[in-house]
This record gives sequence, structure tokens and C-alpha cells, in this order.
Amino acid sequence: MKDLSNENIIHIQKEDIEYIQFRKLLKYKEIAHCYTLKKLDFGFHQNVEKYMGNVKTNYDKICKEIGIERRDIVRPIQTHTNHVMIVEEKVNKDEMDICLNVYQDMDGVITNKSKLALSTTNADCILFLFYDPVKQVIANAHSGWKGTFSKIAVEVIKKMEETYHSDPRDIICCMSPSIRKCHFEVDDDVKTLCENIFQYTNRLEEIIKLGRIVEGKQKYLIDTILINQILLEDMGIKTENIIDSKICSVCESEKIHSKRASGTNTWGLGTAIIELR
Ligand SMILES: [Zn+2]
Repeated sequence: MKDLSNENIIHIQKEDIEYIQFRKLLKYKEIAHCYTLKKLDFGFHQNVEKYMGNVKTNYDKICKEIGIERRDIVRPIQTHTNHVMIVEEKVNKDEMDICLNVYQDMDGVITNKSKLALSTTNADCILFLFYDPVKQVIANAHSGWKGTFSKIAVEVIKKMEETYHSDPRDIICCMSPSIRKCHFEVDDDVKTLCENIFQYTNRLEEIIKLGRIVEGKQKYLIDTILINQILLEDMGIKTENIIDSKICSVCESEKIHSKRASGTNTWGLGTAIIELR
């Protein structure tokens, strides 16, 4: 069984459950967190009614494993926006807040309340877990290339500052497994968009590399992790507080849900969860 552990994460493998945790977050006993791997699927596959039972069972398993309650789960309806919201109270008392209209078009959730287990999902996109140990604020955000280009990580930090007076110098930001520069191949349109948005960083040569030529068309490889590192540092997050899992979801698609590696219209979803106990 391949072990994905590295200096930033530990990989826990059990018979019917598998997940990673960030070493830096494990130092804080007041929070629970994880990112789940392929043995658990949190996807609804366009049929919420059919798959809700399966998703509930899988939340049960992972919540029990990390010592939280399933009914604490708050999962927004992600649509690749840069919208983030503060959540201080759940809608449902005894059941998860999942796929509820109040969370429509929200790709990030933030709270300073305990017993709210923020959960986002991915299959190649980046999931960010934020923690401010001084003000006791957590956030969880989903950022594919669209979220990265519209700078959702910046929106999260701004809202943590505005609402809870977080100091960026205190904030820890962890990045889940996601599609990396080795596999994030795009066409000219996305590359041009990237150039236009991130020209100002003067780091386009590092961000965009030439990829393959497919059917006479040049492809490009984009480093969305680097873009987000730059965005986070520009917001005042300390370099040592930006913790990358260093795992490509396509390279490790045997273990990790990956839309691109699936090559089909069906793929599962992993989830990142964070809760203040
Ligand atoms: Zn890769």
C-alpha cells in the first residue's frame, strides 16, 4: 500500500477509510480536520436523492474517525465562484447542512464557532483549509482554475480580517491534493486569461510552461499552486504558514479522486473538513 506521507502531511490507511492530515494542523488539539481519499466518495453524481445515503454513510465514517459529529457538517453548493460566506449557525439542528439553498454559489465558508464542520469537495481542484489560532477562526474554500483566477483565497482572508479581525501573519493555510503543473494542461484561451490576470506578478515564466502539441495545437501547463502561493504571500500570509500537500491528484489517481484522470463523465469527490471542537 503506497504511503503518500511527506514532511507536510500524514497518510492514514485503514480497511475502509483513507485520508490525509496536515502535520501543522495536528499540533492544534482544538481543531479536527482531514482530506479524504478514494475509499470514500462524497459525490452526488447529478442525483442527490440516489446518492444521499452513500454520502451520509461516508460522512459518518470520516466524522467518527476524526472525532466529530456528522450533524455538524456544513457543505456549501460550490459553483467555481469566488464567493465566500460567514456561517455562525446551522439551518438544520440534527442533520447536516448539505445542498441547502442558503449556501448556493458559495465556494468558501468561514466561522469562529465550534461544532460547525466546514466541508468542501473536489476532484482536481484545490481545497484550502485556513486556521487562525489567535482569533480561533477557520475557513474552507474550493478553488479550481476559475476560483484561482478570481482569487478566492484572497476573498477568504479579506473576510477573516473584516469579520473576525484576523491578522494574516497568524493565519495558516493548507492546500489539499489537486491537479498540479505536471498535469494541468490548458489551451490558448485559458493561458491568455492567466497572462492577463497575473502579468502584474512578473512571474509568468514560472507560472506558465509550454506543454505538448496536440493535433497541431500548442498546449500549456499552468501552476495554480504557485499562483495561490503568490496570492497568499501578497495578502501577508507567512511563507512558513502556507502548507502544501505536494500531491498531484492525477499522478496519484489510484488513491485520489480525479476528474481528469477518470477520463469519463463519472468521477467521485474527496472532501476536506475542518472544525473547531
Ligand atoms: Zn501530475
